[in-house]
Amino acid sequence: MIYRALQIEKDDAGYRCSLKTLDDSTLPEGDVTVAVDYSTLNYKDGLAITGKSPVVRRFPLTPGIDLAGTVTESSHALFKAGDAVVLNGWGVGESHSGGLAQKAKLKGDWLIHRPAAFSARQAMAIGTAGYTAMLCVMALEKHGVSPERGEVLVTGAGGGVGSVAIALLARLGYRVVASTGRLQEADYLRGLGAADVIDRAELAAPGKPLAKERWAGVVDTVGSHTLANACASTKYGGTVAACGLAQGMDLPATVAPFILRGVTLAGIDSVMAPRALREAAWARLARDLDVGKLEAMTQEVSLQEAIALGAQILAGQVRGRVVVDVNR
Ligand code: NDP
Repeated sequence: MIYRALQIEKDDAGYRCSLKTLDDSTLPEGDVTVAVDYSTLNYKDGLAITGKSPVVRRFPLTPGIDLAGTVTESSHALFKAGDAVVLNGWGVGESHSGGLAQKAKLKGDWLIHRPAAFSARQAMAIGTAGYTAMLCVMALEKHGVSPERGEVLVTGAGGGVGSVAIALLARLGYRVVASTGRLQEADYLRGLGAADVIDRAELAAPGKPLAKERWAGVVDTVGSHTLANACASTKYGGTVAACGLAQGMDLPATVAPFILRGVTLAGIDSVMAPRALREAAWARLARDLDVGKLEAMTQEVSLQEAIALGAQILAGQVRGRVVVDVNR
């Protein structure tokens, strides 16, 4: 049987991603085969498609760290043919062929059942970005952040993680302040639930070890000076959930916020998160995410169109979330 897939190759001719027709003999090892309905485009998929960072560790490989589809064959105890499933991370799209294809073969241990609240398209509108936003919100809650404690800052607000985080936090009753480099998108961010929108330039440059206390909590998707400044302006006892590096992987900070204000820096990883945490995050998404707002932040593209969007997402030009219909 043949299927269409994006494929990344690296050889003497260079690094490239293209749309191919492949046959089943190219599928990797796995105990579950999935007919993919939708995939999506995350920042990491942009890195894989362009080769800007070495996230792809074997060649040739199909990118796509997320997929939603239907099981067609399974020898795994938890899954049977006909089950609706979702996959996020586990190195898929990096070292194991991923979701930007009509078909995938995977380890059942990596899959979860798709929550009944979401269609396959909605599950991919959420994707790793949205599930990571939920992990960030759960980390804030775990460390005692609540709406009455004060404002929550979301950085990289116009991106995928940022957009979902705003929608979730606003629905939960927080006063959300969105930091963006795209002030022209202020109406979009307010539509998702942001009470205030600030220019990311306020946070992006080197700052002081401690600044005026403002945030009860922070969801940071950009790292570098922005994360350092976010920590420096977090209120006594507040929490900063750090999940991203869109500005940089560095953290030019001091320990002052941690040892003088008891600030917690909570690290968030979606890729290797255990099944119980994933299922808890998806159950919370089903409860707390307004699907109307999800639709408002989502655009849909074809497999072929996803290639060009890889460079655009890295350039910060993609707003919200991108769903990929792998069957067109
Ligand atoms: P997006 O590209 O959709 O969003 C990133 C946003 O960051 C951009 O939209 C832009 O928002 C802002 N941004 C871009 N460049 C810069 C810059 N130079 N300085 C400051 N801000 C910038 O990506 P995702 O939402 O998919 O991912 C966000 C980050 O989170 C990425 O670094 C990604 O690798 C990471 N991530 C981590 C996960 C984990 O498990 N820890 C899981 C998922 C994502 P604006 O225009 O509004 O300023």
